[in-house]
Amino acid sequence: MSRVVEHLADLTGFRDRDVLDVTLVGALKDLLRPQAVAIYRCVGEAGEQRWLTRARLAPGDVTATADPLWADPSSLPTLDSHPDRLACLERQEAFTVDTVPAMAYFPLSTDREPVGVLELQTAHALSYEEVRLVCSILRIYRNFQGLLDYSERDTLTGLLNRKTFDESFMRVAVQSAPELAQHRTDTRRYSPGSTAWLGVIDIDHFKRVNDNHGHLIGDEVLLLLSRLMRTSFRFHDHLYRFGGEEFVVLLRCTGDDDAAAALERLRANVERYVFPQVGRITISVGFSSLRPGDTPNDAFARADKAVYYAKQNGRNQVQHFAQLVAEGKLADVQRDNSDAELF
Ligand code: GH3
Ligand code: MG
Ligand code: MG
Repeated sequence: MSRVVEHLADLTGFRDRDVLDVTLVGALKDLLRPQAVAIYRCVGEAGEQRWLTRARLAPGDVTATADPLWADPSSLPTLDSHPDRLACLERQEAFTVDTVPAMAYFPLSTDREPVGVLELQTAHALSYEEVRLVCSILRIYRNFQGLLDYSERDTLTGLLNRKTFDESFMRVAVQSAPELAQHRTDTRRYSPGSTAWLGVIDIDHFKRVNDNHGHLIGDEVLLLLSRLMRTSFRFHDHLYRFGGEEFVVLLRCTGDDDAAAALERLRANVERYVFPQVGRITISVGFSSLRPGDTPNDAFARADKAVYYAKQNGRNQVQHFAQLVAEGKLADVQRDNSDAELF
C-alpha cells in the first residue's frame, strides 16, 4: 500500500508531461511487474492518425523509451495496425485479452477528447484487483493532467496560454537542436543550430465580427480558428493563444520554406472556411526563425513586426521577417537585453 502511495507522490511531483508519462509507466512496472508497459498517443490529422510512443518499458529496459516528438508522422504505425489498441481508444473502455502473454488496454482521455491508450503485457491475465488499481492510478493521472491544463491552457480554445510561453520557449528551442542540450548552461537564451520558427497570427478586422455579430459569435470564431490551427500544424508544434485574437505557434521545420508552407496552409485553410453566421474571415501572419541568443521576447518582436507589415500591406498574407529585412522593407530589430542584469 505504501509503495502505491509513494508512486502517486512521484506521479504528481512534476509539472512536465513528458516526465509524468515516464513516471506512470515506471510506477506500473514496479507495482505489477508486467513484461512491457507503454503509453501511446494518437497524433496527426483526422483520418491519417498514427500511434506515437510516449513512454515504453520492455523487459530489461532500465529507462523508458519514446518516439521523438518531431517524428515524421508517416514513419509511425497507423491506428489500424494495432486493432485492440484502436478498439480501446474508440470504445473508451478498458479490457483484457487472455492470450499468452496476456494484454490489457486502458483508454487515456482529457476532458476534451480521447488522447491515447495505456497498454500492459503480462505473463498472466491481470486480476480484478490489479485492473482496479490501474484504473484508480489512471484517474489520478487524469485529474493531475486536468490541473496542469487548467493552469497552462486557455479555457476558451484549449491552446496553451501566454504564461507558459516563456517557460516552453527554451524547451522547444533545445528540443529542436538536441545535440546542444547537454552543453547548455544558460537556459534562458536560445542556442545556434536550431530548426525552430515562431509565427504570430492575428485575425483581420476581428472587431467588426464582434460589432456585427456580438461577442459570443466572436468567441466561437476564436474557438473554430484554434481547431483549424490544430489540424494545420503537427503534434510537436506548440500552439498558444496570446490574448484576444492573437495566436502564436512555435514550429519545428527543416527550413524557411517549410515554415512558410505550414503557415500558408493555415492562412489558406482559414480563408476557405465558412464560419457559421459570420462567413469568411482572414488572418495576417508574421514569422521569424529563432536566432542564437534569442530570448522569447526577441523572437516574438521580429514576428510581430512582420505581422504589422502584413496589416499595412493588404492583410490576409504570410510575411517572413528576414525576407522583409533583406528586401529593405523592415529594419532589423535589436536584441532585447531587458534581462541582462540577471547574469
Ligand atoms: P486588425 O485587422 O488591424 O487586426 O483589426 P482588428 O479589428 O482585428 O484589431 P483590433 O486590435 O482593433 O481589435 C481586436 C478586437 O478583438 C477588439 C476586441 O473586440 C476583440 N477581442 C479581443 N479579445 C476578445 C475575446 O476574447 N473575445 C471576443 N469575442 N473578442 C475579443
Ligand atoms: Mg486583429
Ligand atoms: Mg490584434
